[in-house]
Amino acid sequence: MDIEAAEGGLGDRIMPPDVLHIYYIEGELPFWAETRLGASFLGNWEEEGSCFLFFDSPAEEEVKAVLEANPGIRLIDSYCFSYEEWQGGWLEPFHVGPLCICPAWLEEDGSCGHEGRVLLDPGVVFGSGLHPTTRGCLRAMAWVMEREAVRSVLDLGTGTGVLAIAAARLGAERVLAVDLNPLCVKTAERNVRLNRLAGMVEVVQGRAEDMISNPAELAVANLHLDVLYRLLQAPAFLRREWLVLSGLMRSGARDVKELLAAGGAEVVMEFDTEMTWFTLLIKGIS
Ligand code: SAH
Repeated sequence: MDIEAAEGGLGDRIMPPDVLHIYYIEGELPFWAETRLGASFLGNWEEEGSCFLFFDSPAEEEVKAVLEANPGIRLIDSYCFSYEEWQGGWLEPFHVGPLCICPAWLEEDGSCGHEGRVLLDPGVVFGSGLHPTTRGCLRAMAWVMEREAVRSVLDLGTGTGVLAIAAARLGAERVLAVDLNPLCVKTAERNVRLNRLAGMVEVVQGRAEDMISNPAELAVANLHLDVLYRLLQAPAFLRREWLVLSGLMRSGARDVKELLAAGGAEVVMEFDTEMTWFTLLIKGIS
């Protein structure tokens, strides 16, 4: 593993943490506070006026010091999970078409060829590749991009950056990856660097809804249904060659298909996991 390539906002840790210690705080931390959380601090997940601070060892003292310095915030609870519990399973290399999604700490494992390899350090954000919706998107993207050249890709709700990096490995020349959450942006940027794709994959913080008119040939969105509805209400979103939509359960998939038909777009393929999670591959209206 190339430590230099791995440097970034999340430090140069290569191995995943054994255990995650999480502190749930009401209120927002000022930006400088993160620098005072010590060497075991992994990241801050901010959400609607609260934050979850992640550490790889207990950090009562550090958290207490930050709380004392910021009277407006308070500790609500703390939790402890094994990394495996947090991720919902053991991370191992797996193949989808020409891609091999490989945990960064198993780079030397040898089961992945170099060309289609996506090295990932998911940290604590969504997008390790274990979830069926992520796999559905990978399958749909590989299906299209093995048959047709797709030069530009927009990845909405990038999480770890897994789909954006996969798009570059499948031949895209330009990829824009977007996420609301700053910790996801940091994590995805780090993964882009791990894969040496900094010139090709750009990661930005923002709302998927503000990217509707981006002209990428393929848009992939593994997002909550309410966000997908907002995207689909804009005709410009369908004006591209291909779309891959996921994060859908059965009723959501049915409603989305109705919206697509009304907008003139055609569902080319459906990928499902035991009829629970659905991913749609859609020909847009170009
Ligand atoms: N693309 C990855 C991660 C999907 S999880 C994968 O397929 O595995 C969904 C991600 O979308 C999360 O990282 C979340 O922070 C982000 N997100 C949620 N709502 C969003 C919005 N409105 N705009 C941009 N990103 C959003």
